[in-house]
Amino acid sequence: MILHSTNRSAPQVTLPQAAACGIAPDGGLYLPDSLPRLPKAFFNNISEMSLREIAYVVANTLFGDLASSGDLKRVVDDALDFPIPLVPVSEGRFVLELFHGPTHSFKDVGSRFMAGLLPLVSSDGTAGRNIIVATSGDSGGAVADGFRRAASTRVFVLFPKGILTRGQVELFATLRNVVAVEVDGNFDDCQSLALDALGESLRDPSRPRLTSGNSVNPARQLPSIIYYFHAYASALRENPDTEGVVISVPCGNLGNLSAGLMAKKMGLPVKRFVAANNANDEFVEYLRTGGFRPRKALMTLARAMDVGNPSNIARIIDLYDGCLERLRGDVDGCSLTDDQIARTMRGVYGSTGYILEPQGAAAFRALDFSLRPGETGIALAGAAPGLFADAVEGVLGIRPQLSRSDQQSGGRQPFRVEKIPATQSALQRVLNTYTNTKS
Ligand SMILES: *Cc1c(COP(=O)(O)O)cnc(C)c1O
Repeated sequence: MILHSTNRSAPQVTLPQAAACGIAPDGGLYLPDSLPRLPKAFFNNISEMSLREIAYVVANTLFGDLASSGDLKRVVDDALDFPIPLVPVSEGRFVLELFHGPTHSFKDVGSRFMAGLLPLVSSDGTAGRNIIVATSGDSGGAVADGFRRAASTRVFVLFPKGILTRGQVELFATLRNVVAVEVDGNFDDCQSLALDALGESLRDPSRPRLTSGNSVNPARQLPSIIYYFHAYASALRENPDTEGVVISVPCGNLGNLSAGLMAKKMGLPVKRFVAANNANDEFVEYLRTGGFRPRKALMTLARAMDVGNPSNIARIIDLYDGCLERLRGDVDGCSLTDDQIARTMRGVYGSTGYILEPQGAAAFRALDFSLRPGETGIALAGAAPGLFADAVEGVLGIRPQLSRSDQQSGGRQPFRVEKIPATQSALQRVLNTYTNTKS
């Protein structure tokens, strides 16, 4: 696989090189030059294939030039040791539960996949790796957990002050190879600090070598492509005579949606996607007007979607060569107020007893706006309701619990957090302290 930078002023690289840097030196995101198409025969019997069987095929198609199929099978088996069920909710409408992994968010698969893939494709197996990840809640725990068995990899998790629950912070802050960094700012501040630190480490070889654990890193983002093949297969199993499968995606940093659009480029016959935004609707506005105006994120009920400057929009624009008309043909946009999200949660719970977390509810409502008779709709739910227990309790009056799948005690350290202002110099001091390099 050869990748180019979305800013088009950096050399092309291989996936191992892209994975080691996270972003391109010109500040762009790495995107495969071309995406391999899956043969038609694959789709003829996809509805009879298991999640893992589908994942083997997709992983071999994407990464077969980098690792043996035996190695890739092990990566898939480790990353996907839990189900991704399609749950019927109402007539023609389903929820795909992407959250049965160890940290209860869809970020588990990409994080575990990246952790499994890196040692297979790295040229310098010796050097201890440093990963930096900005989180609004779920990425931190997922990436930290994904790398918990990679003892020589250090994970710096940047999170905004006052947003995460104590439980979310504990998920990563107590892991031995994790440095938890509380930033006096919002998610976008964390993301730009992380991206700037990556840029610094690319420019200045005396700095600690860093790569990104966010979806800007193709090694974490590309594995999400697997969901969409599995979603499609599951929908066909339920509705073999469907007039088309429509997949609605709750959008934050647009990592997940961009993976869906890549799946379509690989031949997946999804009829259309729906991009659900909350009040932070820069992407929906882009679909409507063609103008992209990043701005300060607003706080909403669907916190994981509170992103004012979604980095993966660069990949989406590049995938469509900037052609808004073609993108509009593939993606419907829909932005939702907190009130609409809450009413959807209450409506679905009241009529079916099914609990949606706020992001999943946004996707479900957006699906409603877009779906036409005869089509099969799938809303992606990226987190267990128990991860958003306060928000769910505030809306539904019941407190969802988390299953106790992630209570392994090995590799834990006492709770410890570094607190910094949102400045690059403060971050560099923390990075230097933990990587023992001269500044
Ligand atoms: C991360 C996350 C999202 C947003 O996904 P992106 O890939 O950043 O667009 C939506 N819902 C939940 C629960 C998440 O954790």
